[in-house]
Amino acid sequence: MKTTSAAMRKPSKAIFIDKDGTLIDDVPFNVDPRRITLMPGAGQGLRLFRKMGYQLYVVSNQPGVAFGYFEPSDLDAVSHCISALLHGEGVRINGYYYCPHHRAGSVAAYSRTCDCRKPEPGLLLRAAEEHHLDLVHSWMIGDILNDIEAGQRAGCKTVLIDNGHETEWEVSPLRMPHFTAANLLEAAQALAALPPARSERADVMIGAMR
Ligand SMILES: [Mg+2]
Ligand SMILES: [Zn+2]
Repeated sequence: MKTTSAAMRKPSKAIFIDKDGTLIDDVPFNVDPRRITLMPGAGQGLRLFRKMGYQLYVVSNQPGVAFGYFEPSDLDAVSHCISALLHGEGVRINGYYYCPHHRAGSVAAYSRTCDCRKPEPGLLLRAAEEHHLDLVHSWMIGDILNDIEAGQRAGCKTVLIDNGHETEWEVSPLRMPHFTAANLLEAAQALAALPPARSERADVMIGAMR
């Protein structure tokens, strides 16, 4: 059971970041640290989010586990590598959350529908629970609309990194980002430019900007 002081502590605001194609270059099903590279603007962008008081959580679908391409433990090496690359940029990640599932997988333990594969919001909800996060004042940033939907369903605001990775554009109200940006740095600069008093009404302002 949580202590009273922990329960009463003010919840933290967070940035939930998709991994592949948002934070690092998308190499499908890669868990080899030698092939992991940060996307342009990632270090600077995350540094700015930190300066703005946000905690940082990576939330990523990794169905390669369900397909038997790699083990859950291989993802630890990926997390370590990303943390090391970002350490060089002066940035610390607060946590990594991976969904290892896929309903059409081949490894029985992970081959099922789940509540954590984006666009489901489970990864964000779990991080919020474990780290006492304030979802309403948090943002989900990703390069496809499934990221946006996961963020919206968790109660967060959202930024779509519009870098050509989304190709299907299945749009619904839950899949409309609050705004779009070219990369994480541009996303951070956009959040930094929001007037504090009106930041809770970002959707209204962004609506006017679109
Ligand atoms: Mg992605
Ligand atoms: Zn899952």
